[in-house]
Amino acid sequence: MTVFASERLLFKPASPHTDAIPTIFAFPNEYTVGITSLGYQIVWATLAMRPDVQVSRLFTDVSESLPRCSSSRIAGSPELVGFSFSWELDYTNIFNLLESLDIPLDSARRNDNHPLVFGGGPVLTANPEPFADFFDVILLGDGENLLDNFIDAYKQVRKSGVRATKLRHLAQIPGVYVPSLYAVTYHGKDGTIKSIEPIESGIPPLIQKQTYRGNTLSASTVVTEKAAWENIYMVEVVRSCPEMCRFCLASYLTLPFRTASLEGSLIPAIEKGLTVTNRLGLLGASVTQHPEFETLLDYLSQPKYDNVRLSIASVRTNTVTEKLAKTLSQKDTRSITIAVESGSERLRQIINKKLSNDEIIQAAINAKAGGLKGIKFYGMVGVPGETGEDVEQTVEMMQELKKAAPGLRLTLGCSTFVPKSHTPFQWFGVNPEAKQRLKWLEKQLRSRGIDFRPESYNWSVIQALISRGDRRLSQLLKLTREYGDSLGSYKRAFKQLRGQIPELDYYVHTDWQTEAILPWHHIIGPLPPTTLVKHLQDALDRFPASELNWSLEDV
Ligand code: SF4
Repeated sequence: MTVFASERLLFKPASPHTDAIPTIFAFPNEYTVGITSLGYQIVWATLAMRPDVQVSRLFTDVSESLPRCSSSRIAGSPELVGFSFSWELDYTNIFNLLESLDIPLDSARRNDNHPLVFGGGPVLTANPEPFADFFDVILLGDGENLLDNFIDAYKQVRKSGVRATKLRHLAQIPGVYVPSLYAVTYHGKDGTIKSIEPIESGIPPLIQKQTYRGNTLSASTVVTEKAAWENIYMVEVVRSCPEMCRFCLASYLTLPFRTASLEGSLIPAIEKGLTVTNRLGLLGASVTQHPEFETLLDYLSQPKYDNVRLSIASVRTNTVTEKLAKTLSQKDTRSITIAVESGSERLRQIINKKLSNDEIIQAAINAKAGGLKGIKFYGMVGVPGETGEDVEQTVEMMQELKKAAPGLRLTLGCSTFVPKSHTPFQWFGVNPEAKQRLKWLEKQLRSRGIDFRPESYNWSVIQALISRGDRRLSQLLKLTREYGDSLGSYKRAFKQLRGQIPELDYYVHTDWQTEAILPWHHIIGPLPPTTLVKHLQDALDRFPASELNWSLEDV
């Protein structure tokens, strides 16, 4: 029995017309990971509900029956091959899948008979440029209207048979980015970016990331025991986050904050999902900030839902009430994760996290009183403006928490600050001192009996490279595929390409000037760069003098 036989569908796939567009929609990881991605589920269902598309799914371990690719056009061979790209290092799996389909990795080497390779998802929406050479089309932003607009536009040109004609037509659709139609020039091979411009007239100079503004958000289209979260039914409660912590991609890239209507969308979706499973996941960057979250909790507390297991993606610290903790513990949740970023209130002001230490301590007290067994706090080191004293305050805060809620299991997960596009901190590099700070925290917290779980510093360096990368990285990504995905492999690839592309330091550790042309300069995000600079200046105004080695006047 295949994994697909275990699926319970919550939508009705259409019967494809005889002339439907043969399409492969891939997730560049195993089935169990891909089918747990709400984004993948939604795009697949959207395609499957269209009678003019014949879609087959492809994962790294299994696939549905696929149309055969060919470099000479044969009837029934795929015309579109799409990827949902949500984890950076999955790019090697994209390469493998393209090769398994006999499709050249580089868009420039594909001919009229090859399918168009399109991609979307959080990695590409944040910064498509390191992957620009591998995709013919990149869909930027919310898929709700964008995907249908893309397919409708494709239908208008599919019979032309000429790849260049199709791409030029698609590039006119808002949110559809065709990288090969833009030329990037540099101040020398290993210098900064000089310009990013369309290669010919008629191609829009800027591409607007698409924002869906409806109040019906997404919900699972399939439930299966083979998902990484077995049998989970996921509902998106909110999109984006109104807090705007200055490093946060989940907020800045997806603004404005939108909420699903409770009566019109959330409750009907939950009722539908709970007819096939009793495991419910509430998703969103800041679920508890839904204005009717209390009502939703009351709704889920009805006796008919007593056996429902509830998971909440993210809880804002000052919304951890005793009532929330009680509802969660009654519904089989033992612990919650909350992001506090640091024990230093001053640092939280720099990053615009409106949260006091007293509120954090109260959250722990409430969690314990409500019957939860543990809290996982989430922090960062290397945040711009951070001093050694701030890191010490994190240790102090954890000790205070231990005293305030004895018996509650406390964990501190900690990563390194990574700059993200379209945020006010996009210009800052990764602070190399973060590595030592993680080690120091580990020593201090473990000796005090606090479970400390650092994320790899090296992994943060690779994330930053991809986060701030430009098109010159495509050669490097192909090399690292052969060398492996350790930081050592990336350094080896940089050495091999020395003189042809900038050094690793340029991408990862250097603070960039606010006037610089960034790799995503031609992509319009939710806020204009001038607003991001204002938010950056607000942060700089709060920097301690000792850390003020970087100011807007310098640039
Ligand atoms: S509260 Fe969390 S999700 Fe919201 S902006 Fe801050 S870090 Fe991002």
